[in-house]
Amino acid sequence: MRVAFSLIFISLIAALGICRFFACRSHKSIAPAVAMLLGALIPPVSGNLLIIAYTNQHVATLGYYIYFLGMNYVMFALLRFTFDYCLIKWRGNKLKNLVYGLMLIDTIQYALNPFFKQAFETKEIIVDSAPYFSLLAHWGQTFHRIVDYGIFFAVLLIFIVKVIDSPRIYSERYSTLLIAMIVIGLWETFYIFSNNPIDRSMIGFGVFGLLVYYFALHYRPMRLLDRMLANIVSDMSDALFFFDAVGRCIWVNSRGIELLDIENEDFEHVTDRLCQRFDLNGLMNLDNTFHVKRTVHGDDGDRYYVIEKRSTSDDRGHLAGTYITVRDNTEEQRAFEKEKFIAHHDELTGLYTREYLYKRIRDRLLANQNGDYCVVFVDANNFKVINDIYGNEFGDYALKVLGNWVRNNFPESSIYGRISGDMFGICLPFKDFHPEKYETELENFSIKDGKLEHPLLVHLGVYRITEPGLDVSVMFDRARMALNTIKDEFSKHVAFYDDNMRDRVLWDQMISSQLHEALQRGEVRPYLQPVVDANGVVVGAEALVRWIHPIDGLLSPASFIPVFERNGMIAEIDKHMWRCACEILARWKKEGRDLFISVNISPKDFYFMDVAEEIKSIVKEYGVDPSKMRVEITESAMMEDIENRVKVLNDLEKHGFLVEMDDFGAGYSSLNMLKDMPVEVIKLDMVFLKETNNDTKAKKILNHIVKLSDDLGVTSLTEGVETRDQYSMLVDMGCKLFQGYYFAKPMPVEEFEIFCEKRS
Ligand code: C2E
Ligand code: CA
Ligand code: CA
Repeated sequence: MRVAFSLIFISLIAALGICRFFACRSHKSIAPAVAMLLGALIPPVSGNLLIIAYTNQHVATLGYYIYFLGMNYVMFALLRFTFDYCLIKWRGNKLKNLVYGLMLIDTIQYALNPFFKQAFETKEIIVDSAPYFSLLAHWGQTFHRIVDYGIFFAVLLIFIVKVIDSPRIYSERYSTLLIAMIVIGLWETFYIFSNNPIDRSMIGFGVFGLLVYYFALHYRPMRLLDRMLANIVSDMSDALFFFDAVGRCIWVNSRGIELLDIENEDFEHVTDRLCQRFDLNGLMNLDNTFHVKRTVHGDDGDRYYVIEKRSTSDDRGHLAGTYITVRDNTEEQRAFEKEKFIAHHDELTGLYTREYLYKRIRDRLLANQNGDYCVVFVDANNFKVINDIYGNEFGDYALKVLGNWVRNNFPESSIYGRISGDMFGICLPFKDFHPEKYETELENFSIKDGKLEHPLLVHLGVYRITEPGLDVSVMFDRARMALNTIKDEFSKHVAFYDDNMRDRVLWDQMISSQLHEALQRGEVRPYLQPVVDANGVVVGAEALVRWIHPIDGLLSPASFIPVFERNGMIAEIDKHMWRCACEILARWKKEGRDLFISVNISPKDFYFMDVAEEIKSIVKEYGVDPSKMRVEITESAMMEDIENRVKVLNDLEKHGFLVEMDDFGAGYSSLNMLKDMPVEVIKLDMVFLKETNNDTKAKKILNHIVKLSDDLGVTSLTEGVETRDQYSMLVDMGCKLFQGYYFAKPMPVEEFEIFCEKRS
């Protein structure tokens, strides 16, 4: 027996030592506590080995010391391990100090035992006819047992609480150690009362140490894992179907049961139903894997699914089974579509944004290389006025109406969108574009909102795509170019682009870039056309601008004035002309030539300068008599902003200038207006009258205007006089001044001077 137990203890010591070695090398956070406990178990086992292996009393006594002191260390290590393993901490230092204090006292009293024998003595007994040294316990030993049992019970308590508290799948790691501890506790108690010198419960301690090593460092809660995985898979939002190696469905999670409406775990028809529902025919072969997207049409709209089939194999690579996941992607897909919609659609009108419109057109043209398409540019004239008069809210409303008009009035073959502000763009097959339809549609276009109604002048510019390689934005530039040619027209709403337009735009750009130098080089200069009185005497002249272009020759104002009126450069020309007129007048003054010169004021001049100040300062600069400088302004220029224009004219009149109303009768012609304006001459143009094609009627009108101006004390001047008959007729009517080819065409200043000398 002695030999048998010695061998068991030696093996235990070896096993504990080996485990401790590995525990020291482990990186787990609990490993130091485990290593300490394993190390602590070695001395008491060794102590017992000494007690049973030797018949010498001294050695046995030493064994007892090692055993008891070792047990104190075991309790210390067990506490530490328990705290780490059960994840708890000391609550306050008092209890901790008490426990460690008691252990220290116990250790000290063992140190005093050789002198006082208050803990234990040994005495020889014979067991199975073999001598052993058993323990004679005194009060010191009882104290030791109280301390160690106290700690041991505390540890048991902690484990019991853990077992009760933890979820069932976790409690295994505590319950096994708890049972082991209860067993060794009972075993130890039995030893104490048995009076047997061999403490067999030491085997229990050793085994406990090995269990600790296993549970703390190597135990993987497989059941826990399985259970968790099963839970996760069952609750997964994806539907999941498991198939065995021959393709029979063996398991479906709750989402899958719901999806296929499976009753009573009847998995037999799962494959058929999946095929049918998601159109997977031809994909479901046993060893086929796939990843597909499917759309299922339902009562509450389309639903989107992502379906994936995979297989698993065993360790040897044989097919173990397959599984299919079905993920309902509808929410993501809808969010995605919504986002895409927002990114591609204009918030206000719901039409495509410019970028997306251009992209769609680009794609269409690329896909139909031989198609005959056109782009249409839609623009509302003077839209700013709507915002200014009615406010932005109504402006926004008007844009929506216009957007809807585009939506409803272009054929289905169109792609349309909002280019920016009040401009919209459309691309459609050229054969589907019917200009007549839009001419009538836009004739009386207006924005109505309850009582409010505002007419809107909308134009369409059309570019038939003859160069599909062009940038879409350039195509719309061309359509816009076409639109600009009718921008202010009320009777025409659709204009088509042609290549002349582009040439014209290029020409416009060219002369605009050349104007500055042309002015400096004197290429832009006045021609004078004489004004005569009823006796045929030259009394003055109108200064009309000419551009002697180095390449294009003599340019008439009709070719460049509209260009410069559009870009504002007209102001430069007019200032230059006024200067030239003053220069001539200053010279004539010196030469004693008493003639006036009329200069033209463009309606656009008012936007770019203070007209009155400018004219006054030039006249002052040249020392010219203002009454010799007449200013011509057209009726329509007045109409643009009557109040301010009248102020300007009053100002000029006050400073001695003579104001002439040019092209009277050509525009709005409000005779009424004449009485409020400081006008001293009205210029009637024969050309306009000729357009009536009715001589008697024209004569009557002329007659009336001449009479009326007489009554108002305004001088009448008729221009465009081409024949002798016209001249004598006008003289008979009482007209005072005349200008026209009958007398002379506009001519260079020197020629004009010679002309005057000849006439006189
Ligand atoms: P406007 O001010 O009405 O000038 C009269 C136009 O009628 C001139 O054309 C003149 O050459 C033309 N004319 C004169 N007599 C006759 C005639 O018997 N028969 C016909 N059929 N035409 C006649 P022009 O010089 O080509 O000027 C055209 C227009 O250009 C002018 O019309 C005026 O509005 C503008 N313009 C000319 N010079 C200037 C200028 O320096 N500044 C501004 N702002 N506009 C100018
Ligand atoms: Ca004129
Ligand atoms: Ca005129």
